[in-house]
Amino acid sequence: MPELPEVEIVARSLNTIVSGKKIVASELLRSRLVPDCSPTDFADRLRNCTINFVNRRGKHILFDLDNGRTLVTHLRMSGRFMHLPIESENPKFAHAIFYFDGDTRLVFDDQRHFGLMKIVETSKVSETESIRKLAPEPFSDEFSSDYLRTQLRSSKRSVKEFLIDQTRVCGLGNIYAAEVMFLAKVHPEQPANTISAAKSVILHDKIRKVLNEAVSLGATLETNETNIGGSIYGSGSDWAWRVYDREGKECVICKLPIHRIRQGGRSTYFCKRCQKKTAVRQSK
Ligand SMILES: [Zn+2]
Repeated sequence: MPELPEVEIVARSLNTIVSGKKIVASELLRSRLVPDCSPTDFADRLRNCTINFVNRRGKHILFDLDNGRTLVTHLRMSGRFMHLPIESENPKFAHAIFYFDGDTRLVFDDQRHFGLMKIVETSKVSETESIRKLAPEPFSDEFSSDYLRTQLRSSKRSVKEFLIDQTRVCGLGNIYAAEVMFLAKVHPEQPANTISAAKSVILHDKIRKVLNEAVSLGATLETNETNIGGSIYGSGSDWAWRVYDREGKECVICKLPIHRIRQGGRSTYFCKRCQKKTAVRQSK
């Protein structure tokens, strides 16, 4: 599933490609993509509006429209956008199509069928169910070192589960959480409320570092207009994870083999020597 950096790059790419474009018609081909709206309502609410800009909140992509509405999209597992010439055929998993004034259309294609869209009043975007509970954006002032410290102290869950909880820290998934814990030298099973004050400052720093690094890399990659999706850092890129997906391979710091454990049904990768558990006590 795309994590914050990938969604950021998708939103930036879309902003470049579709801002200022007028939607003359829309088609909803898989009704469950937009659970609270019929295909007819979907088409009605989007007809003849212009896309002001595209941005992001958490992993949600927001199309700000000039009719006072915002189209909120979550790519989930495999959702992607394709900017195509009008004469080309629809891709196999075309679930929504936005026809532009001119000779192109934007298709939402989703092989795994988990994608979600919602049309909301722009003034109420922050009150939308899935957005309301999100933690502050990781690059915002609100996401301060004090904020993170307070959140850590109030959670008894493992630091790994804490980091991927979007209501605590916004934007980290399985991959970046592993990278953050490795850089911060934190054991993934350490209870969040036992992280020391000094360590929580380091975690805060590494969260921003890891996300920033990935966004910066993504920004250097060329956008493929016909495939704007979450699989940005796939094969062919020079990207290499420090610890994620490296079970049995040498730790880049100490050369010990990287370990994999299961947490909440998902794999966590870490180095037993570099990421030691500290004594479990409620830190001050
Ligand atoms: Zn190591």
